[in-house]
Amino acid sequence: MKRRNFLAGAAVPLFPALAAEAAPPPKPGRVRVTGVRLVPLRTIRQAGSMEPAWALGTRMNFAVGGGAYLEILTDQGPIGIGHPPSAAAIPTIREYLTGKDPFDAEVHFPALSKATSYRDAACVEMACWDLVGKCCGQPLYKLWGGGKDKVRAYASMVALSTPEERAEMAVRLQQEGWKGFKLRFHFPTMKEDLRVFEAVRKAAGSDLDLMVDANQSFPVKMGIEWDFNRALETARALQSMKCYWLEEPLKRDDYDGQAKLCGMVEVAISGGEVHHDLSIFATLMRNKVFDVLNPEGAELGIAGLRKVTAAAAVFGMPVVPHNGLLRIGTIAHLHAIAASPNADYVELIHDPPIGSYLHNFAVFQNPPLVDKDGFLPVPQGPGLGVEINPDMIAR
Ligand SMILES: [Mg+2]
Repeated sequence: MKRRNFLAGAAVPLFPALAAEAAPPPKPGRVRVTGVRLVPLRTIRQAGSMEPAWALGTRMNFAVGGGAYLEILTDQGPIGIGHPPSAAAIPTIREYLTGKDPFDAEVHFPALSKATSYRDAACVEMACWDLVGKCCGQPLYKLWGGGKDKVRAYASMVALSTPEERAEMAVRLQQEGWKGFKLRFHFPTMKEDLRVFEAVRKAAGSDLDLMVDANQSFPVKMGIEWDFNRALETARALQSMKCYWLEEPLKRDDYDGQAKLCGMVEVAISGGEVHHDLSIFATLMRNKVFDVLNPEGAELGIAGLRKVTAAAAVFGMPVVPHNGLLRIGTIAHLHAIAASPNADYVELIHDPPIGSYLHNFAVFQNPPLVDKDGFLPVPQGPGLGVEINPDMIAR
């Protein structure tokens, strides 16, 4: 039978779970969602703001507390927490999710990504996973197959700075135990970019894993734009100074250019943080567009992130997820990385003192902290394993 005929002759919908409205009510004993809400957090202290290298001319604020988080309530008691979706999406999320089973997380993500946005849907999906873990009494990484109970963290810089300051920062973090350090290359000239890398490499020695992010895949370009030659010359210069990877050296859709660059240089080329379509990842893997993939759970959902990571393993590719959702999003990524043999390193935005990850993690009652060997322990409580500090909640 031809495949087309087979599909046309299917007696039941191929994806019955997507026909959400027609679904029968959950069976007794199944968990049902009874409420969805954003919980505001008190701002304890403003830490300040920094000019991010990837969006020069803008400011990125850092604070202890502030903002909100997502809670999904259930008829059986456990409450799932997630990164906050946009307030505008909450009525749609509430209408869709009420009465549904959070264990159907993989159904909810595609449905909500159409009704709201990928990011909003990802926020809900991570809270559903938190509920799955809480209902089962197990940390998520264990439910997903286990593996690592701690993951190396790399410090992802925010700002551009002088070679001297970046070198001093790298050495200080190295002394604290950090094993990876990511610089931003956004100076007008390649020479200025390379001066920073050289200074850091010289000060930190060869043991520190030094990444470079050119952020050339940003949909809206703010700052200096690279052409192929700049990417190639930069990659060649970096490879002589032991660079761990060069991230996003070309535009997001320039798959041919990225693949060509990969084939021409020995330094690893990484990317993938902007894509939310699994078929694009298939293209990236088949055509060896990158050596290392940086998928993002805020685009793919955590289940999608895990699928990309598993597929990459088939291609023998390492994965280091991008981390765009700070706080609870980082913890969700941490569990996914811990359960994936070909995933290593968790990205922490950490450009202290203002851009410290400790400010983001201060909302947790039990925050995991980078240890003296540079590892972030995976929280061992059920679900995501972190709770919001009650003192932070705005009453
Ligand atoms: Mg990046």
